Amino acid sequence: MNFKKHFRLIPGDRLRLAKWDPTDTLDFKDKEEAQGLLERDIKRLDELQYLLAADSRQALLVILQGMDTAGKDGTIRHVMSACSPQGCQASSFKVPSLEESNHDFLWRVHQRVPPNGWIGIFNRSHYEDVLVPKVHGLVSDKQIKERYKQINHFEKMLSQNGVTIIKFFLNISKSEQKKRLEERIRDPRKRWKISPQDVLERKFWHSYRKAYEYALEKCNTEEAPWYIIPSDHKWFRNIAVAKIIVQTLEQMKLRIRPPEVDISKIRL
Ligand code: AMP
Ligand code: MG
Repeated sequence: MNFKKHFRLIPGDRLRLAKWDPTDTLDFKDKEEAQGLLERDIKRLDELQYLLAADSRQALLVILQGMDTAGKDGTIRHVMSACSPQGCQASSFKVPSLEESNHDFLWRVHQRVPPNGWIGIFNRSHYEDVLVPKVHGLVSDKQIKERYKQINHFEKMLSQNGVTIIKFFLNISKSEQKKRLEERIRDPRKRWKISPQDVLERKFWHSYRKAYEYALEKCNTEEAPWYIIPSDHKWFRNIAVAKIIVQTLEQMKLRIRPPEVDISKIRL
C-alpha cells in the first residue's frame, strides 16, 4: 500500500475535511495486525537516520499539526522512539513569548529547522500563526493571506537548501476529542495534560476546521505537501506516519559521503 499517495493532499486540490474519514484504517483490522509493520518501519527509520547523518547534505523536517488531543505528542513518542538523540530534535511551539511575538512569526521556527544530517520534528509550527489568529479574528484576512504566501516562500527556500518537508494533519473527530478529554479528566496520570485552552478551544471546533481547510489548501506545494492522517485510532495514525516518513527518506537518495582522508594512506 502506498501510504504517501493515499493520504497526500494533491497540490491545487480543495480540502474538504468532511470527506476525510478520521476512523479509516485501510485494510488493517486491528492494532495486533499493524504491530509488525510498525516495528519494521521503526527499525528501518533507525537505519535511514544513520544514512541521513552519514550523507549530511540534507535534513528532514516533519511538521505535526492537529486539534488538541489529536496525538501529536503520542506520535513523536511512538514513531520516533528508535531515533538517536544525536540526530533528531523535537520542538514544540506554544503561545509565543514576548520576545517571540516581537519578531516576525517565522523567526522562532527558523531557528529550530534541523541542520544537515538531522531530523527535526515540529509539534505545532508556523501554521499556528494562520490558525489561532484566523479563528479569533486577531489579524485581518489580508494579513492571513500574506502569511500563507510567506509560509510558501519560506518552505520553498528551505527545500531549495536541502530540507525535505513533510506535513501531517492528524485528523480526529469531534466525538473522539470528547472521549480523549474525558479520559484526561478521569485518569489521574493524564490530568497534567489538561489545559484551560483545551476546553475553550473546543468551542471553536468548527472555526478551527475551516481555518485548517484554508491554510492546508493554500500552503500545499510539491516541495512541502500535506498528508491528512486518520487519527481516531492511535495505532493506525502511528503506522501511517511512520510509513510516510520512511517512504520519504527512501526517496531522498541518501548516500554515505566519502571519507575526508585518503584511506589508502592510513597506516596504523
Ligand atoms: P500544547 O501543544 O497542548 O502544549 O498547547 C500549546 C498551545 O499554544 C495551543 O493552544 C496552541 O494553539 C498555542 N499556540 C502555539 N503557537 C501559537 C501561536 N503562534 N499563536 C497563538 N497560540 C499558539
Ligand atoms: Mg494541549
